[in-house]
Amino acid sequence: MEPDIQAVKNLLAEPHDVVILTHRNPDGDAIGSSLGLLHFLKKQGHSVTVVVPSDYPDFLAWLPGVSDIIVFDDEIETARQVIKKASLFFILDFNSFDRIDKVAETLHKDDRPRIMIDHHLFPEPIADHMFSDTTASSTCEMIYDFIVKLDRTADMDADIADCLYTGIITDTGGFKYATSPKLFRTASKLLEAGADDYKVNDQIWNSMTEKQLRLLGHCLANRMEIMPEFHTALIYLTRDDYADFDIQRGDTEGVVNYLLRIPSVMIAAFIHEQPTIVKLSLRSKGDMDVQQICKAHFRGGGHKNASGGASFAPLGTTLKKFHQLLPSYAPQIREAYEAFSRR
Ligand code: 5GP
Ligand code: MN
Repeated sequence: MEPDIQAVKNLLAEPHDVVILTHRNPDGDAIGSSLGLLHFLKKQGHSVTVVVPSDYPDFLAWLPGVSDIIVFDDEIETARQVIKKASLFFILDFNSFDRIDKVAETLHKDDRPRIMIDHHLFPEPIADHMFSDTTASSTCEMIYDFIVKLDRTADMDADIADCLYTGIITDTGGFKYATSPKLFRTASKLLEAGADDYKVNDQIWNSMTEKQLRLLGHCLANRMEIMPEFHTALIYLTRDDYADFDIQRGDTEGVVNYLLRIPSVMIAAFIHEQPTIVKLSLRSKGDMDVQQICKAHFRGGGHKNASGGASFAPLGTTLKKFHQLLPSYAPQIREAYEAFSRR
């Protein structure tokens, strides 16, 4: 489903009022790809604004251009104005309108051109030009590919490279998963363009506050359950935990990954109570597909090894539901574990 690159080149040959949209709870890849593309498009003479549904985590606050991002939840009127004025939309790091909820408003029946660049499974037809590569590590890797396809690699600079390198590092856990020979070639191109890899890594990995580190301790000491028979581990957080630890957005980032440090754990779950919903983050190893679980039971999706979803039942009921669905996945989990152990 490769889109017509000449049509995209023609579209970009005229200066546009571009709005770049990315998903709710934007992560390093969402923000990195949006800002990387913003700097690139500005160089081509476009006027560009990034609009995100909700705020981004503090560890991304150093990225060039981040302070001009419009957070829909906080600045609804400004966001609506820029969206109204836009002549071209980019849709980055998501592939269905439910990932941007209210920001989508009337977008689905809008006839202004839209270009999607995304690496999640099962894209919905939400753009005129759909760049979808589910083998890509990150949307940031795809933004680099996009610049190559436009024959504009000469426009790469250190700001673009820092932004794109950030999403690659966060979405691969520091080159630990979803890597490929091509990704390493892209990474080396970004370093040649001036990405400060030491700084990017330091900002990403050494950015915890004392509160976050203590919360991690609480999760591991008091909220962790291991189900060895299902090669599954989970961490849950209650609404009281949110109050007791004054947990804010981003404070629980990465907690789920610790569970995968146990060799026999194939599925890691982080299940936490939000004001109106219970949110789930699932991670897995090898062939174990958690996207399928999120899609089938928690109205979610994502990637084979990293997916999310939500439940509208209380925390206790949701935990019970999660425990109860494990037996039906037992054969698949065991098979994935055995294959993984043979590697
Ligand atoms: P996280 O667990 O870090 O929130 O998300 C992991 C992956 O799953 C990301 O790629 C994210 O885009 C996707 N994801 C998270 N929550 C949802 C959801 O509610 N719906 C869908 N479709 N994807 C989600
Ligand atoms: Mn991504």
